[in-house]
Amino acid sequence: MSLRTTRQREVIAQVIEEAEGPLGVPEIHGRAQQTLPRLGIATVYRTLKLLTEQRQIHAIAVDGESLYERTGQGHHHHFSCERCGRVFTLHVCPVDLPSGTVFAEGFVVRSHEVTLYGLCPACAPGA
Ligand SMILES: [Zn+2]
Ligand SMILES: [Zn+2]
Repeated sequence: MSLRTTRQREVIAQVIEEAEGPLGVPEIHGRAQQTLPRLGIATVYRTLKLLTEQRQIHAIAVDGESLYERTGQGHHHHFSCERCGRVFTLHVCPVDLPSGTVFAEGFVVRSHEVTLYGLCPACAPGA
């Protein structure tokens, strides 16, 4: 693997690592271009595929869009800002629903996904 390829992979992995939450492909591309101005979108897709195969990142779906975040963050949820469109990672759980909870009629809960919507700190009134 060439030095250039390694560098591209490092920059893209770092963009995802340092993000406030999961990022879409255009956002990853834009942020990585601040370090590598000539980075092409095809390279971004190729690198995301590689990092996914290596389990350094994984894709999630928010509002039907694929967003990428690093793996190993433990239990967390996402907050989607209705004004600026950014998605944030929240390390708080808004539902008290342990794995193994059994609902009436026998539905056994194993996991849950919750996406919260509202205004981020930068967009909230008074910010
Ligand atoms: Zn916002
Ligand atoms: Zn939770």
